[in-house]
Amino acid sequence: MRYFNSDIETKPLPQLRQLQNQRLRQLTAYLYERAPFYKKQLDEAGIQPNDIKGVEDLHRLPFTRKHHLRDNYPFGLFAVPEQEVIRIHASSGTTGKPTVVGYTRQDISIFSEVVARSLVAAGCQPGMKLQNAYGYGLFTGGLGLHYGAELLGMSVIPVSGGMTDRQLMLLQDFQSDAISCTPSYAQTLAEQLDKRGIGLSQLNLKVAILGAEPWTEAIRQQVEVGLGVHAINIYGLSEIIGPGVSNEDFEEKGTGSYIWEDHFFPEVVDKDTGEPLPEGEYGVLVFTTLTKQAMPLLRYWTNDITNIYYEHSYKRTHIKMGPIRGRSDDMLIIRGVNLFHTQVEEAISHFGHLSPNYQLVVTREGTMDSVEVKVEVEPAFYRGLILAGPWTEAAARNPTLYALQHELAKKIKDTIGLSMKISLCEPGSIPRSEGGKLGRVVDLRKM
Ligand code: ADP
Repeated sequence: MRYFNSDIETKPLPQLRQLQNQRLRQLTAYLYERAPFYKKQLDEAGIQPNDIKGVEDLHRLPFTRKHHLRDNYPFGLFAVPEQEVIRIHASSGTTGKPTVVGYTRQDISIFSEVVARSLVAAGCQPGMKLQNAYGYGLFTGGLGLHYGAELLGMSVIPVSGGMTDRQLMLLQDFQSDAISCTPSYAQTLAEQLDKRGIGLSQLNLKVAILGAEPWTEAIRQQVEVGLGVHAINIYGLSEIIGPGVSNEDFEEKGTGSYIWEDHFFPEVVDKDTGEPLPEGEYGVLVFTTLTKQAMPLLRYWTNDITNIYYEHSYKRTHIKMGPIRGRSDDMLIIRGVNLFHTQVEEAISHFGHLSPNYQLVVTREGTMDSVEVKVEVEPAFYRGLILAGPWTEAAARNPTLYALQHELAKKIKDTIGLSMKISLCEPGSIPRSEGGKLGRVVDLRKM
């Protein structure tokens, strides 16, 4: 199976647009009638549902932002009676109340379909076993992958996140073909296999479907070698539906992830002005859910920074998005320079002796911000080092490590424009994901 829904995935663009336009017209009327929040938004903007003829009119509509969801906590944005809502999820929300989302039966079937499409794009097939190591619970990851994989006809092993011993046991005993989890947890699993001397020949893994946090090619490399898989990106957010808003194709790895735009219409806008940006330019990703019933959103401001573009050399017609650089609220501003941790990760990836296990520590002295990059050296390189005394002292005196430290500092200065302190660390000394998303930045300025 090459596509889960070949008709829609390969629909010629003019027809896809027609479908989107028709769905958007229906949606605007639906929300105006059923969701008091949107009636007010449209009235205040002086827009009548009839004014929206198609996606080219979207830019006239106001954005929906995360605080609108919080202001209407918990169920204020539902556009259907509560009895029609068959599932409720919520995102973690680091501060205050979580963001709540609801699904009708039809919403769940759309969610399952986009995940099934995503799994096929990732290289999964009916009959394969998926070890689902995304967290089950209020987080959309666990159940989202679960329903999609069942719809595709895979055998789902619902392990949930964490419990590394059990994950490794099941990978061997059940001979799972695929695993879904966060990329940082896939790093943990790869490392633990190596540490415990479990060879890849004892596993049957072919695909890892990774998402829920930003990751780069360096992590892909580490996971692909460590687990013996294709490591494939899945993206999504609970407000829009959950994982499966977009997904990479395993044969087009590294060229971006298909956005299932018959359901989720994307725009990229300038983060300061909100103006739509030309195809290919980086900005904030904004989605309109074209088909959701329980809680559709118009122009939802995701805060995620990326770009979107069409690629005409492949059969699927849907637009692609590049990797997420970070969330705009996770962006660090260091001495006036905007910084995402993934930029440092990218710089690290140029050094074979360094591993993609790293952490940024940001501090402030007076008015001066500084960043320390803690990064582990590769285990094999570490084993080959001859060091006299404990790591920190010996490392400072070792000419190879000293040179490596300087080269990384220079690479970061040249590419990002900031001077950072580099601390090379021993393998295993930086915190690992224990099953979920991993925070790679420790910002001590806020404390
Ligand atoms: P929470 O706000 O609790 O993290 P979600 O689980 O809905 O809630 O997280 C969605 C967010 O996770 C996205 O907006 C994005 O920032 C991040 N994310 C999800 N998938 C990816 C991915 N493949 N690459 C980068 N970031 C991702």
